Amino acid sequence: MIINGKELSKSIKEGLAERVVALEKEHGRTPNLIVVLVGDDPGSVSYVTGKAKAATEVGIRNTTLRRDVSITQEELLDIIAELNNDADVDGILVQLPLPKHIDEQKVIAAISPEKDVDAFHPLNVASLWLKQPCILPCTPKGIIKLLKFAGVDIAGKEAVVVGRSNIVGQPVAKLLLEENATVTVAHSKTVNLAEVTRRADILVVAIGRERLVTADMIKPGAVVIDVGVNRDSRTGKLCGDVDFEAAQHVASAITPVPGGVGPMTIACLMENTVEAFEKRVTNK
Ligand code: NDP
Repeated sequence: MIINGKELSKSIKEGLAERVVALEKEHGRTPNLIVVLVGDDPGSVSYVTGKAKAATEVGIRNTTLRRDVSITQEELLDIIAELNNDADVDGILVQLPLPKHIDEQKVIAAISPEKDVDAFHPLNVASLWLKQPCILPCTPKGIIKLLKFAGVDIAGKEAVVVGRSNIVGQPVAKLLLEENATVTVAHSKTVNLAEVTRRADILVVAIGRERLVTADMIKPGAVVIDVGVNRDSRTGKLCGDVDFEAAQHVASAITPVPGGVGPMTIACLMENTVEAFEKRVTNK
């Protein structure tokens, strides 16, 4: 089974669009998302364009504030402060990475936690680990939705997450733990990675290396979620961290790249924005 993230993200966005129409009737305005893009890195420009397109589809007002790569940290922090204070702004997203002269952590920490739709603010991260209600990070949230959509019963399963970044590996491990999986987190220092990955009933791969996970590293019948986004060195096309062609014959279900996790990340960003708006207008 190929787990179709495109299809699921479409149905989530359709549901959100209906919710936005109802919210506008009730509260007299629609959610408002501001994306801040510094510089013109083609990858970042393409991500931001995708987010703006999805927001428009859902009925979320959105603006991308483009700033030159020479912007100072102070100037960027001033923009964030202004957006924090603007009652008409519900979601703030600063596209990462930022130029080297800007302290990313400082910028993220300056965003008001209730408008932090990426859920990277230290308070949202802490809330996730302390099991407090909070905005959930988009990619990990999308992965859990994909598993449920594929009918996977997560509780009690052996889950292996390869990658331990703050934005994917660690939070998805935490969410899998919340779903009562038995979770192992592997990384670049893991000894005999194949032995670890072969234990997985659910294998989540978030490395950023083209086809690092080969079919022989997958337990027959496992569910495989490929988060990686790489350029195929042979064809120049997008590809994941898993050798999809071979792995699809071993796994019981697998996400493709593109069309798996990527669209879900964007759909969850839209959901987070609508939820942030709802929370603000209802004062809950
Ligand atoms: P990072 O570079 O922050 O983290 C990569 C992780 O992979 C690290 O924990 C690293 O280990 C581990 N790693 C690197 N090499 C190996 C190896 N040989 N064996 C085992 N583990 C290894 O990446 P991100 O988590 O930000 O992203 C991972 C991938 O997912 C990228 O391709 C990125 O583009 C993609 N991505 C996709 C998204 C989507 O929506 N589809 C969203 C976010 C990311 P260590 O900690 O030891 O260095």
